[in-house]
Amino acid sequence: MLVSASLAGFFVSPFFLVFHFTIYFLDFDSGKQLVLAIQRSGINILNTFVLAVLAIYVFAVVTFLVFSEPTRVDKGDGPPCDTFYQCMGAHMLTGIMGDISNLFNSDLWDTVPSQVGQDGLQQARTIFVLTFFMIWNFVLSNIFVGLIASAFEAIRDDQNIITSDRLSKCLICSQDMYLFNEKIQGGFDKHVLKQHNALSYTFYLHHLRSTPLEDYTSAESAVSAVLATAKTSTDKGTWLPVSKSLAVMHATAAANAGKDGSAGGQ
Ligand SMILES: [Zn+2]
Repeated sequence: MLVSASLAGFFVSPFFLVFHFTIYFLDFDSGKQLVLAIQRSGINILNTFVLAVLAIYVFAVVTFLVFSEPTRVDKGDGPPCDTFYQCMGAHMLTGIMGDISNLFNSDLWDTVPSQVGQDGLQQARTIFVLTFFMIWNFVLSNIFVGLIASAFEAIRDDQNIITSDRLSKCLICSQDMYLFNEKIQGGFDKHVLKQHNALSYTFYLHHLRSTPLEDYTSAESAVSAVLATAKTSTDKGTWLPVSKSLAVMHATAAANAGKDGSAGGQ
């Protein structure tokens, strides 16, 4: 896309180069996070938008049936509601901006009558406009903001989980950092560098890919069979020593033997 934008920018108009700004959403962390947040809350935002359109529709019907004529204090010709389509369109445009009082050509505060029994229709219309204002500004627009904010929070939570997992658990055997620090010499750092180095496992997969099938050892055949028949990404990892580490097993066995030895000696 960027290449075609460049070509169009060169041959047609330099204004096409503006499409290169989309790189902010593709390559920059903050831009990517924004796209992710919208992706995550997309369906919910769409549902809320449908609700908003339905609410505007109901208000447009009421205006069309009850408030389509200008009132005594209106400065203009009243709402543009000669046909329902026109009424709905006008409500959509002003409703999305959160204030349908603009339709009635008069400021709300100018239309308050001097007595409570005066101008009943006008007062009903003021309450009608206020109801829309409350539904839109207090409920719907806050739902939009809340959805986006909670999507950001969820993304941050996911990132935190991944980071803490990466720092505190072995990528191969999924065992906790504390176990290695307690049981083996060199602790967790030595374990993830020497015994379960994730890169070595990656090289092993590459070795499987680059070795002809007939040259496989029996262990390699078993691993490649697991990879070939795996249906999910979890299945693909069944050949890994999950919750198992020879270093920890040996350390535990040595400690037990030491205990038995000292118990036997006493
Ligand atoms: Zn491990």
